[in-house]
Amino acid sequence: MIKLNREPEPQYMIDNKATWLGALKAAIANYGSYKKIPEKEKQKLISHYRNDSVRSALIKSSFGKCAFCECIPSEGGNFEIEHFKPKSIYPDLTFDWVNFLPACRKCNGSKDSHDTGAEPIINPYDIDPKYVFYFEDIVIKAVESPLKETADKTIEVCGLNTVRLWKPRAEILVSLRIFSRAIEEAIEELKNADTERKKVNRVKKLREAVETIETLTSSREKYSSFCRHFLENSEAYHKAKWLLENA
Ligand SMILES: [Zn+2]
Repeated sequence: MIKLNREPEPQYMIDNKATWLGALKAAIANYGSYKKIPEKEKQKLISHYRNDSVRSALIKSSFGKCAFCECIPSEGGNFEIEHFKPKSIYPDLTFDWVNFLPACRKCNGSKDSHDTGAEPIINPYDIDPKYVFYFEDIVIKAVESPLKETADKTIEVCGLNTVRLWKPRAEILVSLRIFSRAIEEAIEELKNADTERKKVNRVKKLREAVETIETLTSSREKYSSFCRHFLENSEAYHKAKWLLENA
């Protein structure tokens, strides 16, 4: 999970949300509760937000990734427009732009109708996840902080420590180890450069190795928070950065 910034609310929402909410509230009053509205009628009343302008603004804000697990949903399914506070419990927020998140089917399904009002979880638009999560090997954990309980709940509710995420993290970990070794080798070669020409070439090689590993931490890359955590804790990477700054 990485920090996300909301895109401006699509005009389509601004122009229509009051009307849609009015109709939904009338149905709730008519049937007695949101849950009692017949399914077919309910779908007709709420489906307005499933719109391309809404979907694309959300996907843009999350760099094409699931806001929770950072997978790329288009690779294995579709994006779903997730209500942070479930519409079944908070129908007034059905068309509320700040209540929307782009999520993969797995996270959305896992979160289901968890009541985030009663038991909050981390919303990456509002809280920077880098201060509340860390990784131990391929396992995501909650940092000891006032938000620990919220972070632990997020891991549980979204299923962030399940095999579907351990597998890709393990694969990336192998790549990160390979790139780290390339950096270590480049550092060693630079140390042994006995002519200016060799030094220049080896600095270049080291810079390329560092740039290669850094591409994995770009917000556009899947599971970038995992890669960022790895690099922040990589001695070889910090040593290489220091050497390049002082070369
Ligand atoms: Zn997800």
